[in-house]
Amino acid sequence: MFDELSSRFEDAVKGLRGEAKISENNIDDALKQVKKALLDADVSLSVVKEFVSDVKDKAIGEEVVRGVNPGQKFIEVVNKELINIMGNENSPLNKKETTPTVILMAGLQGAGKTTATGKLGLYLKEKEEKVLLVAADIYRPAAVEQLKTIGNQYDLEVFSAKEKNSKPEEIARDALSYANANNIDTLIVDTAGRLQIDESMMGEMVRIKQVTKPDEVLLVVDSMIGQEAADLTKSFHEKVGITGAILTKLDGDSRGGAALSIRKISGKPIKFIGTGEKIEALQPFHPERMASRILG
Ligand code: GDP
Repeated sequence: MFDELSSRFEDAVKGLRGEAKISENNIDDALKQVKKALLDADVSLSVVKEFVSDVKDKAIGEEVVRGVNPGQKFIEVVNKELINIMGNENSPLNKKETTPTVILMAGLQGAGKTTATGKLGLYLKEKEEKVLLVAADIYRPAAVEQLKTIGNQYDLEVFSAKEKNSKPEEIARDALSYANANNIDTLIVDTAGRLQIDESMMGEMVRIKQVTKPDEVLLVVDSMIGQEAADLTKSFHEKVGITGAILTKLDGDSRGGAALSIRKISGKPIKFIGTGEKIEALQPFHPERMASRILG
């Protein structure tokens, strides 16, 4: 893998050739190339700067073993640091000892929240869990219908408002009572998004959180939004408090830099990735695969 990765860095690491050690004097071009690779992958600038500075500290003084290309050694340090930041291994979902476990889905409109609610429902159903999908997006009637369609197709139970004008927190509270009475293992609450970060959306999330005391608040992020992932994560994490994220639309061209920004800014793990419009297209997040994708 390192051979493949270092081809991109071939020119940049020329300065390291023949050196016995990576030092302050010979590392600059290589660091510039890392910076460029991360920016190309749409990692946020502030995150890139911090990362490059950390890598510099780690790489300087590394002995280059005879026979190992110094470029390879450098890329190994970069790759290791990326994996390290993104969490080393996959983080499973938080679970409650006594059911039901509650998962709140948060994010902007169009990020893939409703789809991810269905995906996660199917994933847990395949693990023999009794799942309830909760349609708490009252502003977009199509979202309720979308969830019901997914529910019908995949035999997943969907809970929606019994009365017109119910508030999202009331729907969530009623869904929780229903789940308690019906031996539901996991409740997945699809909340309303907005086109951009908005105080009323945050207020609504906080109220739903208060009534459901969730085990997970998963921020659903469209990997195509690139650099904006940083501000988005910061807002949601400060105002609502997230426990993890789902990065969607990785079947597209995006290099996935948002994964690094989300993790660096919130400290919380990416738990799953969405790799298609189909409900089956959900995979656990693997940091080492994402590191390769980001370095390109
Ligand atoms: P919401 O507004 O956040 O609930 O977003 P939706 O779940 O309605 O998704 C918005 C659009 O993105 C829909 O057309 C989905 O089919 C699509 N979508 C969601 N996740 C993925 C994914 O992982 N890959 C692709 N290619 N499309 C996705």
